[in-house]
Amino acid sequence: MKVKINKEKCVMCGSCVALCPEVFEMKDDGTVDVKAEYQGKDIEDGVLVDKIKQAVAACPTAAIETEE
Ligand code: SF4
Repeated sequence: MKVKINKEKCVMCGSCVALCPEVFEMKDDGTVDVKAEYQGKDIEDGVLVDKIKQAVAACPTAAIETEE
């Protein structure tokens, strides 16, 4: 699964970071993004994929975009 954050939709609530800190991070300037190591990567770890799905479900603005 590939994952990215639509910056125009993200309201920086931090829910995805709380649910899956392995993949999402809040930067010093308060913006939230996928960690560099996972940007554009096909994430195959089932545990991480489940956590990403939880983050997608929890995101209030549907800003997390995934691709199988
Ligand atoms: S849960 Fe959604 S709105 Fe909140 S920080 Fe993450 S991507 Fe942004």
